[in-house]
Amino acid sequence: MSTFQDLGLNEDLLQAISDLGFTKPSEVQEKAIPILLESETDLVALAQTGTGKTAAFGFPMLEKIDVNSRTTQGLILSPTRELCLQITNEMKLYGKYCKGLNVVAVYGGSSITDQARDIKRGAQIIVATPGRMKDMISRRLVDISKIQYSVLDEADEMLNMGFKEDITDILSHTPDDKNTWLFSATMPREVARIAKKFMHDPQEITVGNKNESSSNVSHEYYLVNARDRYQALKRLSDANPDIFSVVFCRTKRDTQKVAEQLIEDGYSAGALHGDLSQNQRDLVMNSFRKKQIQMLVATDVAARGIDVDDITHVINYQLPDETETYTHRSGRTGRAGKTGVSMVIVSKSEVRKIKSIERIINKAFEKKDIPDGADICEVQLMSLANKIHNTEINHEIDKHLSSINTLFEDTDKDELIKKFFSVEFTRFYNYYQKAKNLNISDTGSRERDGGRNYGGKNDSTRYFINVGGKDGFDWMKLKDFLKEQLDLGRDDVFKVETKDSFSFFNTENELKEKVLSYFTDFKYEGRFVNVEVSENRGGGRRNDKRGGGRRDNNHSGGRREHRKGASGNRSDRRRSEGDSKPRRSDSGSGSGNISRPRRSRR
Ligand code: ADP
Ligand code: MG
Repeated sequence: MSTFQDLGLNEDLLQAISDLGFTKPSEVQEKAIPILLESETDLVALAQTGTGKTAAFGFPMLEKIDVNSRTTQGLILSPTRELCLQITNEMKLYGKYCKGLNVVAVYGGSSITDQARDIKRGAQIIVATPGRMKDMISRRLVDISKIQYSVLDEADEMLNMGFKEDITDILSHTPDDKNTWLFSATMPREVARIAKKFMHDPQEITVGNKNESSSNVSHEYYLVNARDRYQALKRLSDANPDIFSVVFCRTKRDTQKVAEQLIEDGYSAGALHGDLSQNQRDLVMNSFRKKQIQMLVATDVAARGIDVDDITHVINYQLPDETETYTHRSGRTGRAGKTGVSMVIVSKSEVRKIKSIERIINKAFEKKDIPDGADICEVQLMSLANKIHNTEINHEIDKHLSSINTLFEDTDKDELIKKFFSVEFTRFYNYYQKAKNLNISDTGSRERDGGRNYGGKNDSTRYFINVGGKDGFDWMKLKDFLKEQLDLGRDDVFKVETKDSFSFFNTENELKEKVLSYFTDFKYEGRFVNVEVSENRGGGRRNDKRGGGRRDNNHSGGRREHRKGASGNRSDRRRSEGDSKPRRSDSGSGSGNISRPRRSRR
């Protein structure tokens, strides 16, 4: 295990590193820094997000440039404004004892003349997004003809975002004998091509597996009538209570429309497209980053700037015109070693496009059914149960406990639980009780309502299992896990669906005994794994109608309000509850829905 000293960094840098509290180099730093310090070479470095790549190229660059010269010697290209600012900031911290150092950030959406002035003062290092950099070059506001070191950071992302031509153009203004250091999480063909074109004999280092992130994305499609697209979107969201997603539409108009409709229906959604001002876009992106928005509805162009790591789902509300664009969309999820799902809602006329996408991504889609009302109710109920189970107790309640206890004196635990859950659950139940089946068969007709058991099989059993995404499972991993544990064949476990903290799967009825007995007293990573037959199968719907719908509407309307007030303080709560009743009944008009389900968030 080496230290930063061992890597051969100078005193100024070591002092800054110690100020930053870095004690030992990360793997990519350990591998890249000695190479870059000791030789004048090109380099391709593959490492996931969060592995410390900035310092891996930043330290050597700071060590190698001449701070006494005002000439621009280093150029770092990065895909987004946020990253550009982040890198600039890090470089300034790393170089805080390098006297005379000037690092300038060059990015769109901010004054180009201010940036040009900062460069004129003598910037040894420029950190830039490709678009703005190209602009500056064509306006002769910057001279990069004496660059010695260029970095392509997050090269895969830059290419994903369509910056290939800009990069080519920019690099054509730099000297041939410079060194180019390419950093990327994955090595798709396009990146390999860039490496080949611009680099001479690059040394290569890899941390972790190549192309790790792209294999983390699974692809699903849902076949519905075009007019049911929006309903399908809502169900996909309702079936995934912890969804944090980008929803792609083809036009700005659709983007705006879908976002507005989602907001009206009580989802935390926002629109991102080119008709919004930079300021509006920043606001939306900030809310998304803070997860105040769960569903970001975006056009392809506007989504270029999205560099958020934990997106769980990409939803293709419509397929893109260009098949290639699909890879850019699905690449928004499954980043930083996490898993993600890319879902496509298709109508009959588009379904053949799936085949051509499969060829391009070299992966098969799974055709899945839009969950029906019973599925969704079950998921929501279990999600709520988990949330309650994991909730930290607010002891402010203690002082009211005795009055509450008096009220519930005659209510036994089971009844209390049922009532408690009904508060939330009944909205979903009511909404979805009469919900139609949205799936159409490949021949184009709507599948018969109610006649469908899961997967169209009457002889299968559906199970609930209390492990999910949180435990590192996606549907593929869980399927493998179950097959392995139970020693089953390839198709014995099907319709595996993972949520955050629980999942569902099916087997044939004849395996029921085996499955249930295997999982009594079974532990996985120190935790009891519980498998139960999921009762919503076999056409039987819940008939627990306790807890009138109208009250629930009030409740959720009120809850939505006081989520906005910072911590739901008392006066807020009272006001919102007072308000919500009339407001909901007035504003509910137009839609005709007795109860739009309000999302339960977080
Ligand atoms: P990447 O570019 O690979 O996504 P970053 O360079 O942005 O990763 O680094 C991620 C975080 O880790 C940053 O906050 C950075 O300051 C910190 N970091 C980098 N190197 C080290 C280290 N050796 N020890 C501790 N923290 C580090
Ligand atoms: Mg980085």
